[in-house]
Amino acid sequence: MIGLGIESTAHTFSCAIIEKKGKKGKILSDVRKIFRPEAGQGIHPREASRHHIENSPIVLSECLNEANVSVKDLDIISYAAGPGLGPCLRVGAVVARSLSSFYKIPIYPVNHAIGHIELGKLLTGANDPLVLLVSGGHTMLLSFLNKQWRVFGETLDITLGQLLDQFGRSIGFASPCGKNIEELASTSTNYVSLPYSVKGNDVSFSGLLSATKPISEKSKIDACYSLQETAFAMISETVERALSFTSKKELMIVGGVAANKRLSEMLKDVCKRHGAKFFVVPLKYAGDCGSQICWTGLLESQVKKSATLKDTFVTQSWRLDSVIVNY
Ligand code: AMP
Ligand code: MG
Repeated sequence: MIGLGIESTAHTFSCAIIEKKGKKGKILSDVRKIFRPEAGQGIHPREASRHHIENSPIVLSECLNEANVSVKDLDIISYAAGPGLGPCLRVGAVVARSLSSFYKIPIYPVNHAIGHIELGKLLTGANDPLVLLVSGGHTMLLSFLNKQWRVFGETLDITLGQLLDQFGRSIGFASPCGKNIEELASTSTNYVSLPYSVKGNDVSFSGLLSATKPISEKSKIDACYSLQETAFAMISETVERALSFTSKKELMIVGGVAANKRLSEMLKDVCKRHGAKFFVVPLKYAGDCGSQICWTGLLESQVKKSATLKDTFVTQSWRLDSVIVNY
């Protein structure tokens, strides 16, 4: 079975083609164009959607060429229907709907967050993991039970990705800033005390963001180092509690922030203490990409009929714990 997946929830417009044989999936192509705001600015939804509109034909044709597949070879088309920025989501939905209705190909709306998890499971081989989803749009600790992902803990305000991006922009980087902060942080070992806010199984990052900004006026590298150490320690505490509570023997990190080496290092230590295996999604597939959507659509197509065109809308705040997963 051959699927096309379209991702357009925020900064990335991406198309990917995966061939599914039994439980195995082979990524034939995954092409992306990322909207980059000017230094110091965040993602403007209308500008990002314009970027996606302009790039969608190029990305789609490159993706088909690279996979050596024509539209008529596709068995299904999936697109990210939420959560995300409305104007951006609509671009992917329009491309998917147009191809589906013109070429009569079954269409599957996919939850973007589930996409991160399913591709992570495919690529790491994790079976029943506690999942840490840390990205621009999510900070969640999840465990699967009775056909649904259950939220063990989450952020009460901004996400870990937003914390890094908003702080990074305040010191002059262009979003996304996680990688720049990681590089600066690796050059310091001077920890400056910052507010640490874990509330039950949840975390809160907005106070940490406000408190880190003045420190960067004295030393950017100390601010980056202290910010990472504090935020990642908060995450590690909640992961440790969740591993202990759920007795899961696997931890998997997915989402763009999973690219961070220091975060992995801290979580590996937590896993060691709990005898849990540690899995991290490969760097290339940590951030948003079409493969996440494509693979999830292929899994859904095993158990679900395709959507009718009137059900191919987008939902900006579609929580992953409301999705029934029965494949
Ligand atoms: P996503 O929304 O899944 O595409 O993830 C994007 C987020 O990942 C942004 O907030 C980035 O700043 C963050 N990110 C990317 N690379 C890194 C890194 N090496 N360390 C920390 N955060 C990162
Ligand atoms: Mg994402």
